[in-house]
Amino acid sequence: ERARLARLRHTPAVTLDGEHVELHANIELPADAEAAVGAGATGVGLFRSEFLFMNREGELPSEEEQFLAYKAAVESMRGMPVTIRTVDIGADKPLDRLTVNELRHEHTLNPAMGLRAIRWSLAEPSMFRQQLRAIYRASAFGKVRLLIPMVAHLAEVRQIIETIKRVQQQLTDAGHAYTRVELGVMIEIPAAAVMLPLLLRHVDFVSIGTNDLIQYTLAIDRADESVAHLYDPWHPAVLQLLAQSIAQARAAGKSVSVCGEMAGDPDFTELLLSMGLRSFSMHPSQIPAVKQKVLRSDAQRLAGVLPRLLQSEDPRAVAEKELAVVRSGG
Ligand code: PEP
Ligand code: MG
Repeated sequence: ERARLARLRHTPAVTLDGEHVELHANIELPADAEAAVGAGATGVGLFRSEFLFMNREGELPSEEEQFLAYKAAVESMRGMPVTIRTVDIGADKPLDRLTVNELRHEHTLNPAMGLRAIRWSLAEPSMFRQQLRAIYRASAFGKVRLLIPMVAHLAEVRQIIETIKRVQQQLTDAGHAYTRVELGVMIEIPAAAVMLPLLLRHVDFVSIGTNDLIQYTLAIDRADESVAHLYDPWHPAVLQLLAQSIAQARAAGKSVSVCGEMAGDPDFTELLLSMGLRSFSMHPSQIPAVKQKVLRSDAQRLAGVLPRLLQSEDPRAVAEKELAVVRSGG
């Protein structure tokens, strides 16, 4: 079984009916990029840059340190795309206390709904520009994509685009090389999913973060054991938001991927394919299992099941019966 999975590494992820699927890796540090290549990833779909900012005992990573980290990941991927997400600090990924004391923002009443991710970046504009400069400088060494976490407001996107323009000017003035970087936003707050057509006017791609999208749609803290049984990816509201987001992005001709845990769980591969998803990003260790599912799937027939599944009061049962039947060729 191990040897068979190893052979899978160089097999392209194509469905039985010829649909090409990108299987990208989620990484936390540049060194993880080698594991991603080893697992057969065709890119990095999510570089969680906050891990460069955590466990620091007081100082934040400089522009130069960040640039070297992003460049290392980009070089490891040998021309394949590397999607770098700006810091998603806050909630379950806090800065340590000493680092927090350097900043103005100390106390948060409800961290999951407080100053985190892009909100934090926009509240610390010089740090945000520093990170953007480091990311843009890495673009001179490969294909870099910029991903913004926890976007909920169009004003945030406008502010981000303004900041990018300013950063590009700074880099030009300083003589640093950079190339075009695609801009994407995470769809992980229900508001972003609901107003996706408006967001799509301003960005090149979107990535759906199901971990947070489920948390905020169902108001279930993803880290709270006492409500873990209610954290349900099969909830009809979650499925509606997913299916609708994927369809709207595709209709607008923008690339869309899923980078939450669902993308790396082979129990959801057929479901996501049925919704039209063709780009998955996951922990590198999950790539072989998801690839096997892709290779055995008929995307067009799966899509035929989706309307019934979305109208059902028990979508999981429909999936188990009908997506499974498709899988065995019945
Ligand atoms: C998500 O929310 O699904 C996601 C990929 O981001 P993170 O898990 O880092 O919050
Ligand atoms: Mg998230």
